[in-house]
Amino acid sequence: LQPKVAPTVLLLVKSGGPKAVPDWQSCFRRHDPRLDVRCWTDPGVDPAAVRYVVVWEPEEGRLSAMTGLRAVFSSAAGVDHITRVADWPRHLPLVRMGGDDTAQRMGEYISWSCLSLLRDARTFALAQPEGRWAHRETRFSAPQRTVGILGLGNLGAAAARMLQGLGFPVRGWSRSRKALPGVESFAGAEELPAFLAGTDILVCLLPSTPETAGLIGAELLVQLPAGAGLVSAGRGQHVVEPDLVAALDSGHLSGAVMDVFATEPLPPDSPLWRHPRITVTPHIASMASRQERARYVAEAIAAQEAGRPLPNLFDPAKGY
Ligand code: NDP
Repeated sequence: LQPKVAPTVLLLVKSGGPKAVPDWQSCFRRHDPRLDVRCWTDPGVDPAAVRYVVVWEPEEGRLSAMTGLRAVFSSAAGVDHITRVADWPRHLPLVRMGGDDTAQRMGEYISWSCLSLLRDARTFALAQPEGRWAHRETRFSAPQRTVGILGLGNLGAAAARMLQGLGFPVRGWSRSRKALPGVESFAGAEELPAFLAGTDILVCLLPSTPETAGLIGAELLVQLPAGAGLVSAGRGQHVVEPDLVAALDSGHLSGAVMDVFATEPLPPDSPLWRHPRITVTPHIASMASRQERARYVAEAIAAQEAGRPLPNLFDPAKGY
């Protein structure tokens, strides 16, 4: 079914800035040449004529001026950067970025992080500029370290599969119980202590909600076995950063790989930058290519225009 009028897609995606827009347009053209794709800085765009918007962090007033919108697409898997804006259009479908590329890239990041912790890559990274031969025994191999994933959704499940391929035993924690082959599933607050007690490397892939904010603080960290590691790639609000530093300094935790932070960009004076046990990456764990994101959005728009359901919708009742 062809749409009667070619819908206008407005890009409010600021990564790459306006100079990235021709590339976005050519990506969209490859998947649906009927889509008229414009940039947020285009003075010829009538906000009321915009049918779909792809957005990262909209300024207040932007989305409410688009009175003809049919759906909002988050340019990423999370939507907290949209739902925290006072006037986001609550009556419209809000689509979270999904697809195999996002999951593949997150799986790669989590695998790299868990292997980094397993092989103590931070020690060697610090020794290299000093020309120091930091020879040491590797204590464990993957089958001896259980990875526990907080948030066993699209990304957590993809990470679990890759980790299993590397030989790690994997367990996961979510609101509802999962049946993933070979993955021990824990559900709800009452099963969190048992999940933590058997987790050697804790991976956070939760969404940002009022329930998950501040979850990874002193009270949780103390429930992990001594020497455990942490990989934080959900959102910065999950980890209480001073509590993490205290757990590393006391030796209770052996290391952390962190991609997301309470304040981003991470301020230059943050103690996390220079901590000998923390590897910092600048929120790059998983962002699908423009090509893949354009394909995902174009296919979802075609579905909506043909009366089929949109994929991967934000659920206001759950908050993610
Ligand atoms: P999903 O919605 O598919 O999965 C979320 C998972 O978290 C689900 O298993 C859900 O449980 C669980 N969950 C949510 N709230 C709770 C809670 N209160 N208690 C226990 N479990 C809970 O999301 P995705 O996997 O697609 O993405 C996860 C997050 O990853 C995103 O929200 C985003 O914040 C982050 N992200 C980070 C990126 C980066 O580059 N660092 C890139 C992309 C995403 P249930 O299944 O029972 O609903």
